[in-house]
Amino acid sequence: MPSYTFRCSEGCHFDALFSMADVPTTTECRACGGLAKRVITAPHLSAAGNAAFQLLDHSARSAHEPAVVDRLPSRGSARPQRVTQNPLHAKLPRA
Ligand SMILES: [Zn+2]
Repeated sequence: MPSYTFRCSEGCHFDALFSMADVPTTTECRACGGLAKRVITAPHLSAAGNAAFQLLDHSARSAHEPAVVDRLPSRGSARPQRVTQNPLHAKLPRA
């Protein structure tokens, strides 16, 4: 249910929840009891790009698109092994 902002003639303003079909243009002020008019405000779309929403999107996506390895890495893309040619290195203990 969307939240609508109302402001009365005394300067109070408050948010109220109404269904989109039933939202009135005026309502009773919650602070002073006067007549409060509905104020047009920007929708809260800017929150959709922040880190919390990105985490939620990533979590939801990982539930049905898990990032798993489905094949072995190809030999061509593996890092080349550095092989020493020094004969003294052959005597070193192996891990
Ligand atoms: Zn008021």
